[in-house]
Amino acid sequence: MAYSYEAPVSQTLFDRASLVTPGGVNSPVRAFRAVGGTPRFMVSGTGPYLTDADGREYVDLVCSWGPMILGHAHPEVIAAVQEAVARGTSFGTPGEGEVALAEEIVARIEPVEQVRLVSSGTEATMSAIRLARGFTGRAKVVKFAGCYHGHVDALLAAAGSGVATFGLPDTPGVTGAQAGDTIVLPYNDLEAVRAVFAAQPGEIACVITEASPGNMGVVPPLDGFNAGLKEICEADGALYISDEVMTGFRTSKAGWYGIDGVRPDLMTFGKVMGGGFPAAAFGGRADVMAHLAPVGPVYQAGTLSGNPVATAAGLAQLRLLDDAAYTKVDAVSAQLRALVGEAFTKEGVAHTVSAASNMFSVFFTEEPVRDYEDAKKQEAFRFTAFFHSMLEQGVYLPPSAFESWFVSTAHDARAVERIAAALPAAARAASEATA
Ligand code: PLP
Repeated sequence: MAYSYEAPVSQTLFDRASLVTPGGVNSPVRAFRAVGGTPRFMVSGTGPYLTDADGREYVDLVCSWGPMILGHAHPEVIAAVQEAVARGTSFGTPGEGEVALAEEIVARIEPVEQVRLVSSGTEATMSAIRLARGFTGRAKVVKFAGCYHGHVDALLAAAGSGVATFGLPDTPGVTGAQAGDTIVLPYNDLEAVRAVFAAQPGEIACVITEASPGNMGVVPPLDGFNAGLKEICEADGALYISDEVMTGFRTSKAGWYGIDGVRPDLMTFGKVMGGGFPAAAFGGRADVMAHLAPVGPVYQAGTLSGNPVATAAGLAQLRLLDDAAYTKVDAVSAQLRALVGEAFTKEGVAHTVSAASNMFSVFFTEEPVRDYEDAKKQEAFRFTAFFHSMLEQGVYLPPSAFESWFVSTAHDARAVERIAAALPAAARAASEATA
């Protein structure tokens, strides 16, 4: 596919990057491999906008893959960071900022009685799995196809996000021993979960699930699915781990837990709670968390865990996320979903706008999408044409049909108008696309 627009400075940077970094990117989903073309190198962000190295401005519908729920460079978050950074960047000792951030998390999310801070969502899920195994003395882990929990060896089997985007069946480098205790089941299928527990009673340490998946596109849990998981786990003595790295502090003040109220044994967080810095967490039942070092035998640690600058950013962002902020994000999401749907309908493009609270994505199919197999049946080639038309018109979407779109409190009427203006031509491009 040829693109009628150019990005010469990004191209030069990408050429330089490709010499020193595999694929020119530090995280695969940033590359435009699924859609083709040159990734845009961004130099600045303000509110709902990003500016690339060629000086082009975009309305940002990626929001750093979720964290920037207040938009870019929010003045109060920046002020908190500047104030923290002036006092020093890392001490390797406890500090008040990490206590305050942990208190904020515990106050917002009732099942989290204790929490441990880490630096990435991957570390959070990796540590939660280790803790679940240490607590139960069992080895096996159940996960769902299309759910992504970071690049933890044991969790890369049939994962979503970049693994879905690139259609990787499995990842070389993950040994049979590392993945052998991972049982992968279809999402939204409680019967499959019941069958596995019936076949292996007392052997499964935990079920880990995205609270509401956003890494195979947005595929919300069917009514009763999460509650069913919890019930099955409880009956067998396994732990129910809800991965809220993406949904946490985004889908509501208390994340997805605030929506479905199903009480997990352990939860994982990242993205929004770091305010754009590397801060993440796992937490839950105090009796389970008591198995962690230094009180318990399950080891877990981190040089930069609870970093003072990251915790200052996260705390500032969380404190600004009141009810009014979520009302605003939900409203802008609803407005955009309606506009996107109208544009495709007008062009006769078969589509489903799939939403979970304010997270949403488009599937190019009208069949119901309940799991990863359904998601893969969409006409993803239409997304490529749609993506490039939007990009050319100054709207930055995730460069994959299998990722959630994200909005922020900063997406105001002007930003929405710019998206609305771009949609008709992009929907036409999608309708004219061929496989
Ligand atoms: N869990 C979920 C649900 C995610 O969406 C992600 C990242 O997208 C992760 C875990 C991993 O987080 P990180 O990229 O910070 O390691």
